[in-house]
Order: sequence, then structure tokens, then C-alpha cells
Amino acid sequence: MSTARRALVAGNWKMYKDRAAAKATALALRETLGSCEIPEVAVFPPFPFLADVSEALHGSAISLGAQDLHPGKEGAFTGEVSGWMLRSVGCRWVIVGHSERRHQLGETDEVVARKLRAALESGLDPILCVGETLQERERRDTERVIERQIESAFHGVGTSRGQVTIAYEPVWAIGTGRNATPEQASEVHKRIRDWSEDARVRVLYGGSVKPENVGALAKAPEIDGVLVGGASLEVSSFARLVAAFKSRD
Ligand code: PEP
Repeated sequence: MSTARRALVAGNWKMYKDRAAAKATALALRETLGSCEIPEVAVFPPFPFLADVSEALHGSAISLGAQDLHPGKEGAFTGEVSGWMLRSVGCRWVIVGHSERRHQLGETDEVVARKLRAALESGLDPILCVGETLQERERRDTERVIERQIESAFHGVGTSRGQVTIAYEPVWAIGTGRNATPEQASEVHKRIRDWSEDARVRVLYGGSVKPENVGALAKAPEIDGVLVGGASLEVSSFARLVAAFKSRD
């Protein structure tokens, strides 16, 4: 892999676990992966458990992120959480534009762009998710859709775009058990790197990554790491994903 871009294995816990399970998972991760620097490891618990997980991971090499943020700093936005608040509980990362938010909660490209800018302004490292639906892939619209998602998100983002990590997450692969092949992912990753116009941008793959298929994905030089949902919930399977990226460096 490129020496300039350290691989990242990121676990998105989505809306799973209660407080006790979140703390126990974080402590077990610390025990198993707490000193792992290659690849970088990050976890994204639900909002209510961020502070507990932050405390459990404090001083380890595992970093913390949130699954979303509001574009503003503060204000009358019931139920929302800002980047500045996330920083104050120890977050380094935030996911922006996950397909579950785009497709189930109606998040538009414009909202995603505002969130990306807010993340950068509050000093968070954003993971921008992009990806096509099955219909779009079948219509051969993959490149057009992803180019549009990246261009609109990066609009007005200048030199700080190198701070953005992009996750290519085909919607048809998320939580379906059907992953993109390393060839399919690599083809899109190459295009994403061109569109992002900054060699520092890391491009992760996400969509049904499991211990059984991660080996082939980790071997592809265009894949700078993975964003994982289901297989990040159990420490043993997440550790196997991390191991696959460790052994390729
Ligand atoms: C995700 O939610 O970003 C994801 C890739 O989920 P899964 O690994 O479960 O497909």
C-alpha cells in the first residue's frame, strides 16, 4: 500500500448495544487492539455511549467517532448534536452522509455538504460516505452518482480536503451479505481519488465486510481500509478485520 496513507479500520455500531454492552465492548477492544497503530482503529458508538466509550479507550491507540452531527454549532435544534459537542466528549471522527441517513432519513447532498464543512470547522476528521444503489449500478450510473456526491460535498472545501476520508459504500452491499469484489471496489476507488484531487484522501470500502472476505479486500492497494457495520459488533470478528490490514502493511 501507499506509505503516505495509513490504513484505517472503522467500526460503525449503528443503533446497537446498550450502555453496559458498549462499555464492555470498548474495554475488550482495548485489551485486544489497544496498542494497534497499524492499521488505525476507530469505533463509532451511538451518541449516549460516547462518553463511556471515550473513558474506556482513553490512553489507547483506538480512536472514537460519532455516527452523525448537526451542521450548526448550537441552537434550538431538539434532538441534535453538534461537532463541537462531539469534540468535548473525546471524538476525533464523525461519519457524514451514511447511506442509511441519505436513503431512510432523507439527507440530501446539500445537507451532507453542510455537515462536512461543520465537521471540518469543529476540528473533527470526517468520513464521507458515498455509494450507488443497485438500480443506479444496473443503469451504469455508478460513476455519475459518486462524482456528484463528492463534488457537492467538497464544494467550498479548500485545502482541508486532505483531512477527509471517503468511504465507498455501495448501498446494495450494506448489511446485505453481498460485498463488492476487490476489483469492483478498486475501480471506483481510483475514480474517487481523481475526483477528490488530493493524494492524501484515504478511500475506505464498506459493505458486508466480514472476516471471510476481508483478506482479498485488504490486498487491493486502492483500498485504504474498511468501514464496517455488522462485523464490528463482536470484538473477535472486528479483530480479524484489523489483523488483515496489519499483515498487508
Ligand atoms: C455500514 O453501515 O457502513 C456498513 C458497511 O454495514 P455492514 O458492514 O453491516 O454492511
